[in-house]
Amino acid sequence: MVLADLGRRINSAVSEVTKSSVVDGNAVDNMLKEISNALVESDVNIRLVINMRKKLKSKIDTEEKPGVNNKKIIQKAVFDELCELVDCGGVQVYKPKRKQANVLMMVGLQGAGKTTTCTKLAVYYQRRGFKVGLVCADTFRAGAFDQLKQNATKARIPYYGSYTEVDPVTVASEGVQKFKKEKFEIIIVDTSGRHRQEKDLFEEMVQIEDTIKPSETIMVMDASIGQAAESQARAFKESSNFGAIILTKMDGHAKGGGAISAVAATKTPIAFIGTGEHIHDLESFTAKQFVSKLLGIGDIQGLMEHVKSLNLDQKDTIKNFQEGKFTLRDLQTQMNNILKMGPLSKIAQMLPGGIGEMMHQVGEEETSKRFKRMVYVMDSMTNKELDNDGEIFIDEPTRIVRVARGSGTSVTEVEAVLMQQKMFARMAQTTKNMQQQVPGGMGGK
Ligand code: GDP
Repeated sequence: MVLADLGRRINSAVSEVTKSSVVDGNAVDNMLKEISNALVESDVNIRLVINMRKKLKSKIDTEEKPGVNNKKIIQKAVFDELCELVDCGGVQVYKPKRKQANVLMMVGLQGAGKTTTCTKLAVYYQRRGFKVGLVCADTFRAGAFDQLKQNATKARIPYYGSYTEVDPVTVASEGVQKFKKEKFEIIIVDTSGRHRQEKDLFEEMVQIEDTIKPSETIMVMDASIGQAAESQARAFKESSNFGAIILTKMDGHAKGGGAISAVAATKTPIAFIGTGEHIHDLESFTAKQFVSKLLGIGDIQGLMEHVKSLNLDQKDTIKNFQEGKFTLRDLQTQMNNILKMGPLSKIAQMLPGGIGEMMHQVGEEETSKRFKRMVYVMDSMTNKELDNDGEIFIDEPTRIVRVARGSGTSVTEVEAVLMQQKMFARMAQTTKNMQQQVPGGMGGK
């Protein structure tokens, strides 16, 4: 994943400056230069990068004080500025309401990934318990209905379309009426893709919008166009009143970071990002979650949200997390869930503390083996130990040896589990603090 390279470069620039015993101006300048270069190479607009660099520098200069943890200040400043770069300024994404018809109209250029995204979105909401239907109002492209039908059938989503009706407004309107009558809660309408920003096709989009009156219009855009996303979004805005954007193909392109920051500059929220061709490769987007993942800090909220969508057991963990706690039993539950969740490479990126990095270094199979051994470690602990925050092992270090023996693992592995739990616990505390509007940190020491 190319974005991971961007994250790694930023991380190593930050650790270069924070690992030296004294943080001097030269080192900070080098870090700023390296972060800026990495962002420009990801096609982030140079003006935005210069602006960010200035702000970052002044933040570090003004907040740096003797006796204060300067490293933490630098880490937090980088995190906050990156968030700002990809944040749309607090504009909220439409949240579908239960027990009523939410009509989502999808627009975008041909090839952006619109039809694929319609099904991904349908699956996303279906897994969250909504009754979802798909309408194909693309009567322009031959084969469009077949493509949607095929995807919908595979995902078991009810669909509506026509082989004979040529007027997209009629098809859209009939489809929406039918699903509304049948009490569907989310009705996703796929419209025809434009080759270019042709006038008559824009008019068609306006007509459909006027007829079906969507709860939200969503523009689907290919992230590989990088910073050109800004002008494309602005051009569409002239005809369509879209309220959110989905950026597709974030998985394979160096320009993904550029596209996100360009969209953020238009103050339109990014609702989701597409991260692959598979039906489940759609992730909800928030600036904090995205930057956390980019920097390998972990995305616990994203992970929990993912687990929630799979209806796996995690009730107590959520409760604990909200209270700023994370016990070994929580880690055990989460690890077990992760093993049930499929491709570890996707999940590993959501975890803090280097698991994503381990995945990168040793590969999927070895990571999976190591994960299982972590679970064996926790399976050998007593209930009292599992429900504890790990401190119990400090008082009774011999238990570490016994747990290692009991689980057929090593002392180092038991210690690694304890360290992992500590990191989650720290993150739980940070998240709780952030929710209480107390300035948090990057989660690291
Ligand atoms: P449309 O013309 O906008 O409806 O585009 P399609 O849905 O037909 O998608 C065009 C191509 O992009 C297809 O080959 C999709 O599999 C691919 N695609 C869509 N979303 C993604 C994504 O998030 N990542 C990757 N790698 N490919 C995607």
